[in-house]
Amino acid sequence: MKLNGAIRHRRGEGIVARFFDDFSMTIDGKAAASPTTLDVLNPATEEVVASVPDCTREQLDASVAAARKAFPGWRDTPISERRRALVKFAEVIAAHADDFARLFTLEQGRPLAGARMEIDFGAYWAAEMAKMEIPVTVTEDSQTRYSETHHTPLGVVAGIVPWNFPFNLALWKIAPALLTGNTLVLKPSPFTPLTMLKLAELMREHLPAGVFNVVSGGDRLGPWLTAHPDVDKISFTGSTATGKKVMEAASAGLKRVTLELGGNDAAIVLPDVNVDEIADQLFFAAFGNSGQICIATKRMYIHEDVYDRVAEALAMRARHAVVGNGLDQGSNFGPIQNRPQFERVKDLIADAKKNGLNFIAGGDLVEGKGYFIPISIVDNPPESSRVVQEEAFGPVLPLLKFKDVDEVIARVNASEYGLAGSVWTKDIELAKQIARRIETGTVWINHTMYIMPWTPFAGRKQSGLGVENGVEGLLEFTAPQTITVARQPQPA
Ligand code: NAD
Repeated sequence: MKLNGAIRHRRGEGIVARFFDDFSMTIDGKAAASPTTLDVLNPATEEVVASVPDCTREQLDASVAAARKAFPGWRDTPISERRRALVKFAEVIAAHADDFARLFTLEQGRPLAGARMEIDFGAYWAAEMAKMEIPVTVTEDSQTRYSETHHTPLGVVAGIVPWNFPFNLALWKIAPALLTGNTLVLKPSPFTPLTMLKLAELMREHLPAGVFNVVSGGDRLGPWLTAHPDVDKISFTGSTATGKKVMEAASAGLKRVTLELGGNDAAIVLPDVNVDEIADQLFFAAFGNSGQICIATKRMYIHEDVYDRVAEALAMRARHAVVGNGLDQGSNFGPIQNRPQFERVKDLIADAKKNGLNFIAGGDLVEGKGYFIPISIVDNPPESSRVVQEEAFGPVLPLLKFKDVDEVIARVNASEYGLAGSVWTKDIELAKQIARRIETGTVWINHTMYIMPWTPFAGRKQSGLGVENGVEGLLEFTAPQTITVARQPQPA
């Protein structure tokens, strides 16, 4: 399929680089094609956007070997240069932001404005991470000993990312892995590999060979990577079910793992809120990226005194929302990113209907091309219904009535997940008390989904293991090393 034929000259040197086709992997600093390819579909049209290499076993081995070979040199590179490499990522992303955003919409589906936000935030993330300090702690400074604990890189990191935020979540791995002196083999989702393949291609000339490898492929590739004996650490973002398989594979070589997994985040809306002021935020907390956000509000508990007003404010916004092709001006929400997820969300809606649940917005599926689901709101379903208990990961939100705070905290905590959540009230002290009783790694008060490079982000229970971001997240890419010097007795 011909896209927009964008062909450009890179750095005025007459080198023709195509942004929207010609996708290769980056292995040992060089372009790598494969004997077979995978098609990447546009979820709005179900047409092929581009074909990408289907990495072979030998190529995967070569990428891990290249990362291993590059490791000592990168580890010993002064941190000032590693910081500069991250700044270069930021500059390269910024220089191509329009093209990246368009490519993002074509493969991921999100409307252009939201795609552009993710690209810009990716550049910001790399630039901010470049400023982070790796701490050195003096653990003893006595007459006989001097001890310092350093944080040293682990070696070869495997980064595995999902399709919902394919750009940012990859940078959450690239930036800390490279800053701390590790080398990386990154595997994007087979549904959304294009922006990362292109970023790696553009970075080839700015990094030593083997430091940053990007491979694309189908269902065999993730297990090959996680079981690879020469990988030291796996940083994984994806579903809880896959996270468990990753942990199992990692156990053989006792690889380090960080797992950022699924969630079923709750919002608690207390009776003193100003409904008009918060309705937009509540709406986007649930339906941003068509609900395909690990930290989206997936259950909204609303106090009975304001339930009807909040429900009507959200339903009104849902009825006015435009769901459509992300390249069309005026689309507020794009499609579900891929067919398997589309089928899962449709099944959840069908189950709700079969059980007689009341939709106050959406719920009717439209026939035609593209994985479109209308913004759908379910009115006070039973707590035990699938739409409450499961992670929808689509634009389907249950609204639930509650009477008192103890009761709602118990309902919120009765989940196998523990990613994040939010509390909405004018009473900040009460909100903080509630926050401390919620069993999640993050709680926002009167806002949602605020994540920054300096904020530790960690899931509890089956939402994950370990931490991303913040100093704590940076240190997950390192091992502590304590160096102790014996001091000579001083002459009297
Ligand atoms: P997924 O688990 O199906 O896939 C994630 C990645 O793992 C993909 O790159 C996939 O190819 C790869 N993979 C699949 N099977 C593998 C295996 N056996 N071994 C190694 N890798 C394998 O998840 P998804 O459907 O792409 O993403 C949606 C899920 O991700 C949701 O559950 C969502 O909540 C979660 N998520 C979590 C966070 C977070 O930070 N906690 C962020 C975004 C998404």
